[in-house]
Amino acid sequence: MSGQNAVNIEQVLASSRLPTLPAVAMEVLELTSNPGVGMAEMAKVVRRDPALSARVLKTINSSFYGLSSPCGSIERAMAYLGLNTVKSLVLGFSLMESFKGVGEEHDLTSHWRRALYSATSAKIIGNKLAQVDSDEAFTAGLFQDIGAIACLVTFQNKYAAALDGVSHDKHAKAERDMFGFDHAEVGGLLAEKWKLPPVVVEAVRWHHHPEKAPNDHRPAACLAALSTMCAEAMRDGVPGGELGALISDGRRWFGKAAPLPDAFEEIAEQAPVLAKLFGQRVGPAPDAQGLMDRAREQSFEHQLTLEREKAQMAEEVYRDGLTGAFNRKKFDEEMATHTDAWKNEGHPMALLFFDADKFKSVNDTHGHAAGDAVLVELSRVTRETVGKSGMVFRYGGEEFAIILPNYEREDAEAIAERVRAAIETNEVDVSNIDCEVDTLRVTVSIGVSATGCGDPERIDGPDRLVQEADRAVYVAKESGRNAVRVWGHLRNADDVADATKDLETPEAPPEPKAGSGESVSVWLIEDDALAAVLIRTMLRQRRGVEVEWFRTFEGLTKAIAETMGGTRPAPSVVLTDHMLDGGTGVALLNVVRNTNATRDVPVVVITASEESSIREEYERAGADAFVTKERLAREMNKWVTAIVEYGQQGRTAAAA
Ligand code: GH3
Ligand code: MG
Ligand code: MG
Repeated sequence: MSGQNAVNIEQVLASSRLPTLPAVAMEVLELTSNPGVGMAEMAKVVRRDPALSARVLKTINSSFYGLSSPCGSIERAMAYLGLNTVKSLVLGFSLMESFKGVGEEHDLTSHWRRALYSATSAKIIGNKLAQVDSDEAFTAGLFQDIGAIACLVTFQNKYAAALDGVSHDKHAKAERDMFGFDHAEVGGLLAEKWKLPPVVVEAVRWHHHPEKAPNDHRPAACLAALSTMCAEAMRDGVPGGELGALISDGRRWFGKAAPLPDAFEEIAEQAPVLAKLFGQRVGPAPDAQGLMDRAREQSFEHQLTLEREKAQMAEEVYRDGLTGAFNRKKFDEEMATHTDAWKNEGHPMALLFFDADKFKSVNDTHGHAAGDAVLVELSRVTRETVGKSGMVFRYGGEEFAIILPNYEREDAEAIAERVRAAIETNEVDVSNIDCEVDTLRVTVSIGVSATGCGDPERIDGPDRLVQEADRAVYVAKESGRNAVRVWGHLRNADDVADATKDLETPEAPPEPKAGSGESVSVWLIEDDALAAVLIRTMLRQRRGVEVEWFRTFEGLTKAIAETMGGTRPAPSVVLTDHMLDGGTGVALLNVVRNTNATRDVPVVVITASEESSIREEYERAGADAFVTKERLAREMNKWVTAIVEYGQQGRTAAAA
């Protein structure tokens, strides 16, 4: 505040036209600020002013307090309603009394009307809120605009003219523009000067900016603000917009506890009662029912708007800004949901990944803006093609993902093909972008993975499908781009080699043993395509090793039948997974051991864990060696060597 304004506000406070509080009120304040003071002492002070005590008693026995039986003395009143209630009435009547005639050259009807409606609103709403004392709220409601009277009697017509035609909620701003301070500030200082309780002082001081009030007194300031708004809403012909603000501020400050608009009826009924007791005319009672109806309507609309805004914000959090596709955050959440649905309820899902081909050259040739336009189109065309079947995400850069809930592999592959073709044929309009061409075309490479492509157990979280789809994209790129590849259903040996290329262990494969010219044929029974492809590729790198891969139990028993029939040679070694599609490795081992043609073939079992009971079961069934998947992956070269040796030397040699 500037020095000049400081003088002005002092001028207001020192104005000789301002009343002081009567002695009784000051004594009551003094007494109540002392926690040790008893009711008898207080009552004695109040009784010293018989007119005042009569009004207090009359008020307490009125419908404003709604006591069930009448109360004959100030002591009784204190016992029934508490010291604070009596104090708030003493203060209220004293205030009215001292301001009698002050500013009478101006029409103060609307001021006192607002004060009484505010006090009533504060008391009624305060009764329902745990955070505030309703008697203090009553006092704050009654006093909050006292600073306005102080300004009026000090500045007279200059003040009246400054606020002429300005709605009450804009008074504070108009005052600050004019004088450098507002009536709330003046009111706060006056309340302080009169030694009103600190909570009342702060509520008065901050009633136009309750959110700035000190923490302890913020609820009281908020209630003071709310009570003024109620008072304003209860004027006739109030614009509907104020009701909306009232409801939304009430919700923001007090949550669902704010009894709005339900309290309107009681306020409308009680405020005239209070006004009569205070000897003020407040004009006709407002139409509470109409007000409530309108408030409920607006409250509903307000709620709807809030919900809409909330939904929109939530939506924005999940969208990619450039392309409008869902973003990575949403992708992670959806993947978690759908892999859980697969694990827990067996709902299948497919995942498509695609990456724009040679996209860097689009940027390099036509500029980044053209690149952006292409990305926007990629997203649009994909979303249009996928429709309601799934969700489209921008995974990052020029990579997109599509989640297809309840899709099996075949249908997912068909959608992938449709997306690929739609993008290939789509002409991207870049005519409004500064580059040499008007249209552009791009292609994409798509990788597909699905829950049904391999061992269902392999999916213990979202990562597995992502890895598979990503790897399939890589295979599609290696195949020459603008292509679709499905993990677990790769099309040829080159695809398999591509799929496993960067999975190889970094150690160089050992040289084949000198003199081991013999060929080794391995039967690999593994339903996890990723694992199978990896193991097969590693085995095939050894000279003279052939691998036949069976995905199911049934596939292997068929091969054994052919061996028995003499149409297929027996393998040199069998490498089998523990859990298989159609049976366990133990059952498979029994078939191998009970068939003459395969009885002496060494069998190596890949187990999921080191559990000894499983191992013992396999040992009894005649397994020759065990390795966990995890160890196999870690010590790939060592195990590949061991498996080849089994194949070369047979069961007895291997056992040694
Ligand atoms: P490939 O066919 O192997 O995928 O080749 P590529 O050029 O598409 O692959 P690379 O990963 O080398 O390049 C991707 C490019 O995508 C590089 C990067 O600048 C560009 N890019 C990523 N995000 C955006 C984007 O938001 N806008 C634009 N204009 N370009 C982007
Ligand atoms: Mg890329
Ligand atoms: Mg690319």
